[in-house]
Amino acid sequence: MIIIPGPSHFQKEMEKLRKKGKTIGFVPTMGALHEGHLSLVRQAKKENDVAAVSIFVNPTQFGPKEDFKKYPRPAFEDSRLLKIVKTDYLFMPSADAMYGRATHRVAPTNVEPPANLVNVLCGKFRPGHFQGVATVVAKLFNLAKPHRAYFGLKDYQQAMVISKMAADLNMDLQLRLMPTVREKDGLAMSSRNRYLSPADRRRALVVSQVLFEIRDRIKNGSKDLSKLRAEGLKRLKKYADSVDYLEIVDALTLESLKEPRPRMTALAAVRIGNTRLIDNVILTSRK
Ligand code: AMP
Repeated sequence: MIIIPGPSHFQKEMEKLRKKGKTIGFVPTMGALHEGHLSLVRQAKKENDVAAVSIFVNPTQFGPKEDFKKYPRPAFEDSRLLKIVKTDYLFMPSADAMYGRATHRVAPTNVEPPANLVNVLCGKFRPGHFQGVATVVAKLFNLAKPHRAYFGLKDYQQAMVISKMAADLNMDLQLRLMPTVREKDGLAMSSRNRYLSPADRRRALVVSQVLFEIRDRIKNGSKDLSKLRAEGLKRLKKYADSVDYLEIVDALTLESLKEPRPRMTALAAVRIGNTRLIDNVILTSRK
């Protein structure tokens, strides 16, 4: 595995590979890797000649009161795991290298995804988050110019924001959105799970349980979305310390729904202790 910290060095290496006719599969991450991330790397290896992974805890997608400083950065363990899944390139830039020092008096260019996608769900509670995500992903795409880029559906809203950006800005790559990897008991894997105490870890199970229940009831013909949502919220509130949202939305536009549609997603965000957890399930309703 070749580790590259410099953005222009990374860009040149990727360019060399493309010139040799190699296909590049790219997996952007913030590190603190787990099986969810590794599943993306394995898929990238399967479908491309070369797998490139980035680890960058992007400061612009964290709010002032969020966990940027204490976000886990186990660099040694991450690179050990990436070697096991046969990652070819690991790009690990510093924030200065990605954004430059404040030498210009002009603010940087940002990607502004459509309001309908970023002012709802997590965007309501994390203003500026998806602008930060979209901008850094656009920068990473311009460095790697991958043939395929891999994202997890665990971060459903993020996956929709990036899909829309890639389509609208004519980005020349294929996006591969991969299923959420879960622990045996249903908890969606997340770098933030390591913050949870054993007791909080047990309470966190309520999130996947509520979402699975909604999925099963819809599969069995339930059409009353308001009732499903109200019952789910009640249960989330019983176990979580606070609930940011539980919504059933159109799978593409993310608009909140009262009536079922053919393609829907249920999403939730809660706080357990000091840890914010998100999860979602894709819903298929019976005709
Ligand atoms: P992060 O490091 O949290 O920014 O995540 C990097 C990538 O891994 C994103 O595309 C996430 O959606 C994806 N990811 C994180 N957790 C999971 C999971 N449990 N299953 C599948 N993909 C995941």
